[in-house]
Amino acid sequence: MTETAQDDVEGRLTAVRSAIGEAARAAGRRPEDVQLVAVSKTLGAKPIEEAIAAGQRLFGENRVQEAQAKWPELKDRFGDVELHLIGPLQSNKAKDAVALFDVIETVDREKIARALAREIEASGRNVRLFVQVNTGEEPQKAGVLPGEAQAFVTRCRREFGLKIEGLMCIPPLDEEPAFHFALLAKIAAEAGVARLSMGMSADFETAITFGATHVRVGTGVFGPREPA
Ligand SMILES: *Cc1c(COP(=O)(O)O)cnc(C)c1O
Repeated sequence: MTETAQDDVEGRLTAVRSAIGEAARAAGRRPEDVQLVAVSKTLGAKPIEEAIAAGQRLFGENRVQEAQAKWPELKDRFGDVELHLIGPLQSNKAKDAVALFDVIETVDREKIARALAREIEASGRNVRLFVQVNTGEEPQKAGVLPGEAQAFVTRCRREFGLKIEGLMCIPPLDEEPAFHFALLAKIAAEAGVARLSMGMSADFETAITFGATHVRVGTGVFGPREPA
């Protein structure tokens, strides 16, 4: 990879895709079973359009309001884009989130599950859902506790009629992520959930070793973000 190629979105995307492929093959998995969610939070339309031009179709945003400001127009122009909500959701934003996002990865409490069930039914949109698990049991972090995850998934399915297709986690910054990825995979197997959203720029290869089906990569694709 040349330096200039690494300096633009297309070059970085190529590098990340090939690293995903290598990690998958090394783990005895098929590269196409790992999907890249390019995290475009804080970015304007230009780098996003560069990524789309380079063939990227899955994107992640962490704020409903920010996504509403930039994605409706892009989604009109590029109909096959798939938008993932990867940040916390307030129940008063459930309607907006259901209208815009294709996948909501951060279902983590009953109030949200109830609001999503209502808005999905009202809109008729087929929004796919992941439950966020707070694998590090960090008080400041969103997500259901590991010991409660299986019961919560069951409740979402039985009581609210939600199709939960995956689990998502954000490991503690200062800990070895492998433990958290293994824990998420174990909970998913117990809960009968097929997909795992785990791994970011620094650790997506490790996450793939532990079964990630979706890796969420921001800086690795777009370069360093401006401080928020
Ligand atoms: C920002 C963010 C990412 C991407 O982080 P990078 O380190 O830039 O790859 C992934 N997941 C979530 C939930 C995020 O908020």
